[in-house]
Amino acid sequence: MKVQHKLLVANWKMNGSAALVATMSDTLAVNSLTGVDVVICPPLTLLHSFAAKRNFKLGAQNVSQHQAGAYTGEISAAQLLEAEVSYVIIGHSERRELYSETDELIAAKVNTAVQAGLTPILCIGETIQQRQQEKTEQVLAQQLDAVYASQPELLAKSVIAYEPIWAIGTGESASPEQAQATHAFIRAHLAQLDSIAATEIKLLYGGSVNGENCSALFAQPDINGALVGGASLKAAEFAQICSSAQE
Ligand code: PEP
Repeated sequence: MKVQHKLLVANWKMNGSAALVATMSDTLAVNSLTGVDVVICPPLTLLHSFAAKRNFKLGAQNVSQHQAGAYTGEISAAQLLEAEVSYVIIGHSERRELYSETDELIAAKVNTAVQAGLTPILCIGETIQQRQQEKTEQVLAQQLDAVYASQPELLAKSVIAYEPIWAIGTGESASPEQAQATHAFIRAHLAQLDSIAATEIKLLYGGSVNGENCSALFAQPDINGALVGGASLKAAEFAQICSSAQE
């Protein structure tokens, strides 16, 4: 596989403040981020608080599938681009569960994001019940196929985050072996759609990544980075996670 930089994405969810923007920016600025790409996805109101000169990129946590119009409360891909956003998280399990986002809607959002020039970070993952019933691969294949089977050309422009729902915010990360096995399955499944894109796509692991477990996860051959929730609100710990992902 082509050697590529790891990608670290911070998902602040509905947390953070201008003070955290300043602390995170200062902390990351004094850390050399050579060999790792970092993206911060803050709440939208904080985007403008980031300085133009920074050693990381900006992401959003959601995007509308529509271009523009009467969609109160929504934000378009073009508006995100104007706010210097380059990545967007799509299909996070919280949006699937709490806001009833369907695979069909998620596919439309990925399409809209790519057409506009944003890089979608598509989140997929199984519940604990599905894992116990040995349905993990079936669930992930369905979530991937819903987006890419009819538009495999989007794969080359995407990032995928495997986030087992049972590991999100629980403090119980998947083991490096569990995560690697699942990532290997995802890559093999995607190879049926586009073998080159499957080799090059960044597969992130998400779910209780922290300063202690990150190195073992990053040592796995099919783990190309992480989507980090809780630990991305602590500047020193997030900087440490970024450093440990360096080549
Ligand atoms: C997330 O919600 O995307 C996430 C990975 O959260 P945490 O790191 O807190 O488990």
